[in-house]
Parts: sequence; structure tokens; C-alpha cells
Amino acid sequence: MRTITTVSELRLALAEARNLESRIGLVPTMGYLHDGHMALVQASRRQCSTNVVSIFVNPTQFGPKEDLSIYPRDFPRDEELCRAAGVDILFAPQAEEVYPPQFNTFVEPGALARPLCGSFRAGHFRGVATVVSKLFNMVQPDVAFFGQKDFQQCAVVRQLAADLNFPIEIVTVPTVRDPDGLAMSSRNRYLSAAERARALSLSRGLFEAEADFRAGERDPVRLLLRARRPIENVDELQYLEIVDTQTLEPVANRVSRPAAICVAAYAGSTRLIDNVVLNPDSYAG
Ligand code: AMP
Repeated sequence: MRTITTVSELRLALAEARNLESRIGLVPTMGYLHDGHMALVQASRRQCSTNVVSIFVNPTQFGPKEDLSIYPRDFPRDEELCRAAGVDILFAPQAEEVYPPQFNTFVEPGALARPLCGSFRAGHFRGVATVVSKLFNMVQPDVAFFGQKDFQQCAVVRQLAADLNFPIEIVTVPTVRDPDGLAMSSRNRYLSAAERARALSLSRGLFEAEADFRAGERDPVRLLLRARRPIENVDELQYLEIVDTQTLEPVANRVSRPAAICVAAYAGSTRLIDNVVLNPDSYAG
């Protein structure tokens, strides 16, 4: 595995790898890797011949009051995990490499970036769309892998790739959870034992609603009521919504097309998100 920190070196390394038969896979991350990230790496390894992981804590996707300065980092450990997982190139640029002082162009996503997290984190998806576009141009992968845990991010990135004609296949990898159900996240390390117990109510609520959905419930109001009961335990619920997977608009009457039940909440001062997809085609309704 090669660890690379500059775009010019990355381009050179990939020029060697790029040929007619090669398939280059990109897994963009902010580091502090866990099994959720590694599931993306494994998916890339299965589908691609050259596997690139990027580690970059992207400042433009953090708001002024968010956790950029304390975002967890452990580069030596991440490097070792990538090496052991068979990653070919670990791309870990410094902030100035990605955003030199004269940097002045952003990618502004449209309607998909407005609801859910977009309404609580102004500018977040603009930062995500910008850095993902830059990474797509730097790496020029054939396939890029994203986690379903960040459901809205997947929707924004798919739309971005289509709108800006990136010739890149976008693959969504299912959410990896701890054995108790908590969706893995680098931010989970902030949680005290008591906060972690409250954080668990997110997945519990989603799973209860999902069980009702499997049993035939299609009324979004009743599904949300069901999910909300355990989720009452969190410290601040930002949103709990059932949205259409394509448009991210709230489902008003009946879940008759694929939808996702999405939640964002605080446990202590840690913001957590989670979701479960409800697919009416998979279960008799
Ligand atoms: P992050 O480092 O949190 O920005 O995440 C990098 C990538 O890993 C994103 O595509 C995330 O959606 C994905 N990811 C993070 N946590 C999980 C998880 N628990 N399961 C699957 N993918 C995840």
C-alpha cells in the first residue's frame, strides 16, 4: 500500500494503475476507521482491481459550531487497517492541498440537500458535494462506495454524479451496526456509557417501525408513532421522518413506494443519524 498526500503524486500513481482492464474503486472517508468503513473497502476490493481510500476531514462540510476541531483522528491506526485490508492507495491530503488559499469554487446541490440534515446543517451538503466532486476529479475512479448510514448523502452524491456527468458508478453499502444495533460511526467514541444507552433508542425505534412495516402497516403516521416511543429517550430529537427514497419528500398517506425512515438526534452533545429503508415490494402489504 502507498500512502500519498499530494494530488500530483496520486495522479502519477493512478496513471500506472489505469489501463483497459483496470477498475479503480474509491472509498471516501473522514478517517477514524471502523467496520462500517471497512465494509465499503471490502465492497471495493470485490469489484475493483485498484482500491483507493481517502482520509480527509473536510472542513467545508462542518458548520462554525460543529465538531471539526475535535473530530476523532488516529492516522497510524487507520493506515494499518487499510494496509491489512488490502488497500492499494491511501490518499490523505492536508487541508491546504484540497483547499489552497485561492480556492473559490463550490458545488451547490439542489432540492435533495434541503430537507432532513440539510435543514439543520446549513452548508453541509455544499461542502460534501464540493469535496466529493474534487475527489472524483483527483482519483477519477470507475466506482465510488458510500454507506447507507448517510442516506441523504448517498442521494445527493448520486444526483451530483448524474448532473455533472461523472462517469462513475455509485454503490451504496448497507449500514454496519454494533451487535446491539447502534449504527457504527466515528462519533460514537464521544459517547459515555449512559449516552450510548440512550443512543441505542434510535435503532430500536427504527427496528420497531420496520417490524410493523413488515407486518403490513403502511400508514406513515402510525409507523412514526411506533418509532418515536423508544426514541423519546434521546436528548434532542432533530427529525424523525419517513421520506421517499428518490425525492426525499415526506410520505404523506401510505408507504406504497420505497421509503426510508430517517432520524437525527443528540445523545449528550453527540449528533447521531440513522435510517432504515422500507420497501413495499419486499413485503406483502
Ligand atoms: P465518514 O468517515 O463518517 O465520513 O464515512 C465515510 C463513508 O463511510 C461514508 O460513505 C459513510 O456513509 C460510510 N459509513 C460510515 N459509517 C458507516 C456504517 N456504520 N455502515 C456503513 N457505512 C458507513
